[in-house]
Amino acid sequence: MELLKQRILKDGKALNEQVLMVDSFLNHQVDPRLMQEVGREFARRFAGDGVTKVVTIESSGIAPAAMTALSLGVDMVILKKSVSSILCEDILQTEVFSFTKQKTYQLTLKRRFLAPEDRVLVIDDFLANGEAAFGAIRLLEQAGALVVGVGAVIAKAFQPGMEKLREAGYRVEALAPVKRMGEGLIEFLED
Ligand code: 5GP
Repeated sequence: MELLKQRILKDGKALNEQVLMVDSFLNHQVDPRLMQEVGREFARRFAGDGVTKVVTIESSGIAPAAMTALSLGVDMVILKKSVSSILCEDILQTEVFSFTKQKTYQLTLKRRFLAPEDRVLVIDDFLANGEAAFGAIRLLEQAGALVVGVGAVIAKAFQPGMEKLREAGYRVEALAPVKRMGEGLIEFLED
């Protein structure tokens, strides 16, 4: 997605060869017009897949996922990283290792927000090692839903997540797949 790639080149900053900072339009401050275009692009790519729910992981996936859900005309479900201490409902949980925080957390879903007949599109801001995406998929499959694909706004193609998901049989769409990066350098894969 050209518009997104240009924005990453303009405002993104590779902190090192592994971590890309995009906090001026995606992770901290959010550009809603760009997110609207991101949502339209995901909706276009998954238009024929009968998506009934868009699922994301709090918190940086919420903006692109909400816009995707809006474009597809379906609801969005947020997988929570923290749970209220009053566990009065039927929940599903799985442990995920966080790339950026270098620690594990419990990903949580209230079962009533996903039905076995749901066809789910998982949207996240970044795809790196795939831990978050595989965690989301584990929960969704525990709920009996079908995962039709994973959409990453930015995928770091030099890290194993995208490849591992595809090898496991999941469709992955990355709007800005990064081939390599370093100080002052961000290079994308060709579409
Ligand atoms: P994974 O689970 O695929 O290893 O990492 C995905 C999660 O880690 C994303 O949800 C994202 O929040 C965070 N993440 C991974 N790599 C980066 C990065 O380069 N920059 C930022 N800002 N977040 C990242």
